[in-house]
Amino acid sequence: MDRTENEPLDSGAVAVPRQEFATSPEVVAEADGSYLRLSDAEFRARIQNAYRRMAACDLCPRRCGAHRLAGDTGYCGAALKPKVFVWNLHRGEEPPVSGTRGSGTVFLSGCNLNCCYCQNYPLSQLHHGTQMPVGQLAGALVELQTKGAHNINFVTPSHQVPQLLAAVFAARQQGLHIPIVYNTSSYDEPSTLALLDGIVDIYLGDLRYTDEAVAMQLSGVADYVQVAERALIEMHRQVGDISLDEQGRYVPRGLIVRYLILPHHTGMAREVFGFVSRRLSLQTYVSVMTQYFPAYKAFDPALGIWRKLTDAECDRVMRTWSRSGLVHGWVQDMGDNGGA
Ligand code: SF4
Repeated sequence: MDRTENEPLDSGAVAVPRQEFATSPEVVAEADGSYLRLSDAEFRARIQNAYRRMAACDLCPRRCGAHRLAGDTGYCGAALKPKVFVWNLHRGEEPPVSGTRGSGTVFLSGCNLNCCYCQNYPLSQLHHGTQMPVGQLAGALVELQTKGAHNINFVTPSHQVPQLLAAVFAARQQGLHIPIVYNTSSYDEPSTLALLDGIVDIYLGDLRYTDEAVAMQLSGVADYVQVAERALIEMHRQVGDISLDEQGRYVPRGLIVRYLILPHHTGMAREVFGFVSRRLSLQTYVSVMTQYFPAYKAFDPALGIWRKLTDAECDRVMRTWSRSGLVHGWVQDMGDNGGA
């Protein structure tokens, strides 16, 4: 995801007013990643468990059974080695993630969804990127930390969990200590998320749809809503809500739910906010994303998402927000049209 600014939501009870972002020299408290406390034995067991599952891959809810250990690729386009498009410091994520120095973002190749509007389609759908040994990816993580990254932010990680675990383990032996961010569509298998318990500190989890028919039409997936809601509940169970320390800085641990507004589909906002407030917590931070622009196959008029959002659509979503009971979060500037 690429954004330049996130404005706090105006709910009348916003936890951290915008002014604070502008004046605080340190927005995010420094903290080591939870994975530093995991024993080598436990870490290795999780890596082995994850790799074993690639023999007939069931790492994500597609469960397509690809023999990735033999080099086959599954629906997601991933095989055995990590495949990465680019890594860099990113300052456009939500404040607890980007902080003041940026997030160490690792854009992964491939995806287990097939979103017709994906703004990152060259890497997610066309699989641009470079296969590399785990050791090389580990070196990239350490490099990002050396450059000052607050965290390591894996973007679209669901289909490469074994490789990412192995890379974090190897990087830990080289001094990696910053927290891990798992930046996902939420089309995740709970048993795979369980492998990340005590390793990931911040989940950036989308809730893209609340209507399975729309998910099928736009992302080619029949069970997105039930899977994503179950996954978000598991993420929340692991890390809880984002909180502030005594100095008013974000503690780098918790779940942030992202909701991308799609043109003609603002009616889903009510159910998105309702799910978060009822099934997660009224204290959950929600990031409302207004950056949508048509990309990839979205220019097809039959899909109904060939244009940007209107002010009226954004206003409608924000009115829904104000009635939701939720109190924390951010909304993007309407003019900010970065990558997904
Ligand atoms: S992660 Fe990829 S290979 Fe594994 S089940 Fe999902 S789509 Fe198939």
